[in-house]
Amino acid sequence: MTTVTSTKAAPAPDLSRIDPALANGAAWINGRIVPVGEASIPILDWGFTRSDVTYDVVHVWKNAFFRLDDHLDRFAASMKGLRMSLDLDRAAIAGILEEIVARAGLSASYVAMVCTRGNPAPGLPRHPASCVNRFYAFALPWVWVIPPDVQERGTHVIVAKTPRIPTECVDPTIKNYHWGDLTRALFEASDAGADNAILLDHEGFVTEGPGFNVFAIVDGTVVSPDRGALEGITRRSVLEICTELGIPNRIGPLSRADLDRADEVFFATTAGGVMPVSRVDGRIYTNDRPGPVSVRLKDRYWAKHDEGWHVTPIDYARYARPLGS
Ligand code: PLP
Repeated sequence: MTTVTSTKAAPAPDLSRIDPALANGAAWINGRIVPVGEASIPILDWGFTRSDVTYDVVHVWKNAFFRLDDHLDRFAASMKGLRMSLDLDRAAIAGILEEIVARAGLSASYVAMVCTRGNPAPGLPRHPASCVNRFYAFALPWVWVIPPDVQERGTHVIVAKTPRIPTECVDPTIKNYHWGDLTRALFEASDAGADNAILLDHEGFVTEGPGFNVFAIVDGTVVSPDRGALEGITRRSVLEICTELGIPNRIGPLSRADLDRADEVFFATTAGGVMPVSRVDGRIYTNDRPGPVSVRLKDRYWAKHDEGWHVTPIDYARYARPLGS
């Protein structure tokens, strides 16, 4: 895979040469590529029974991965943090990700790489060190964490009563499936008639939300929390774009009071980009519409994809079915 200077140069898949069974997504399980709806993992895998798993998600937009190297780096760091390892190297993982996207013929995709603990063979101690870790991957047609029409009007959110799991218990910088607190917050939000939720830590500082980093514009500076959150790769993009545009920015503490007095609030994630917020707990921001700085960052974020910023095109032709088959 090579990096190009523009997504305009990234060729699209020839959909007549795609297996229709993979059109809703493809998964890589144990060396085989299967339709995502048929993919399954062994029931004894501690990834399932103990949430003993790490993962990463990279997106494909206009036929190219975005920041693939950064996602592979974070995946490797997460595995190291959980004392996991695979007999697949970085190039092999990148190759699998490219193949599942190409075989499914996806131009825009949510691509997950997953490492589970596995489980001990019979007779071995029931200890994580006895397990042989396993790799899984899947590529889905594009997923929006917050639907485009909600982003257009501005997302309505609550500050959840459920606090974020303490960092001392589950390290949020290792991407994980410990979603108990985030799931509760999503139900709190829907019960309150809101679209989504922000979680605070036990000291009342903003952390993140179910699947995204949080930003607030406070006294002219774009601030994203320094605690309780994944070090998001979209967050990195946003801060880099702020610097490019001359907008002051920092990662630092963000209190509940800061959130209340902020001029704008927005979220960021791989599966959605920059996502403006217009209400937090009934407080209305920027005339109940996405704020001007949020929209500027959002537009620049997508424009930079077109300019080839951190993109790696997919070689669809390499994995296409033979002509006429
Ligand atoms: N926080 C959580 C809990 C997430 O699950 C995610 C992404 O899925 C993010 C933040 C955003 O991270 P990234 O921008 O790397 O996708």
